[in-house]
Amino acid sequence: MKSRAKAPTISSFFAQRGDKRAGGIVASLVAVAVAFGAVALAASDKEAAPPGAPENAPAQFTRFTAAELEHGFLALAFGSDLRIGARPRGIRRFAHPIRARIIGGGSVSRSAAMYRIIDDYARQVPGLRLSQITAPDADVELRLIDEKDFQSALQAAFGAKVARTFVARTDPQCMTSVKSTAGGDIVHSVSFIIVDKGDDVFLDCAYHELLHAFGLSNHDQRNPWTTLNQKRMVGYLTVYDRALLTILYDEAVRPGMTIRQARAVLPQVIISLGLAAPTRGR
Ligand SMILES: [Zn+2]
Repeated sequence: MKSRAKAPTISSFFAQRGDKRAGGIVASLVAVAVAFGAVALAASDKEAAPPGAPENAPAQFTRFTAAELEHGFLALAFGSDLRIGARPRGIRRFAHPIRARIIGGGSVSRSAAMYRIIDDYARQVPGLRLSQITAPDADVELRLIDEKDFQSALQAAFGAKVARTFVARTDPQCMTSVKSTAGGDIVHSVSFIIVDKGDDVFLDCAYHELLHAFGLSNHDQRNPWTTLNQKRMVGYLTVYDRALLTILYDEAVRPGMTIRQARAVLPQVIISLGLAAPTRGR
C-alpha cells in the first residue's frame, strides 16, 4: 500500500475474518510498520538514480553492511497492517516461478511502462523466476486504474466493509492484496496502481506495490533506503530493495520461516550472495 499522505501516522490493525478454504488461505492487505531499530548507518557509495527513474528521484547508496540488510529484511518481510484470516506466522513468498499479468486500464496508457518495470524486476532479481503472461491464471495481477476508481475497485475486490476500513485507516493511494497459505506460500497477489496522477506517482506506486506482491509486505518509516518507507518517493528498484528481494528468494529462505529461523540463516545467505560490503579496516 502506498499512502497518499507523505507522513501518515503509523498504524497497525488486524481485521479478522475466518476463511477456511484451501486449508486456511490467508488474505492480507499489506501495509505498515515495524521499527527499523537503532542501527549505526554505514551505507556508502552513493550514486544517482538510474536512467528511467523520475526526475526528482532520490540518489541511492549502493553498499550496505550485513546488519543493515538484515535489519531491513526482518522489518519488511514480517507483518502487515491489515490482515484477514489466520495470522501468517512467518516469511511469505512464492515457492514457484511467478507469472505476472498486466490488466491495463485508466485514462493514461501505462501498460508498456508497467511491462518494462516487470522486466526490470525479472532481470535484476533472477530468483523471482518472473515472467509475463496474458492468460487469466497469473500469480500476480497488476491492475492499472484511475484514482477515482480506486475505492470502487477495492470494494469489488474485497467487499465494501474491508475497503471502507482500509481507506479510512490509511488513505491509500495504491495497494496490494496478498493471499498466502498458512505455510507462507503466496498463492496470489493483486495490486492496484494509479495511472492518472503523473509519472512520479505511477513509478513510485508500481515499484512499491510489486515489492509487496512478491512478499515484502510491511513498511518501515525509519528505514532511509527502502521504497517501502511511506515518507519516501522513489520510483525505481534500488540496490537496497533489490538486495532484500534477492535474500527473500534465496533457496535458504523458506516460506513460513519465523523471525528466529530467518535470523539464523540470514548472515550466511547475505555472505553467500555477496550482498554486503566487506568490513573495512579503519
Ligand atoms: Zn505499501
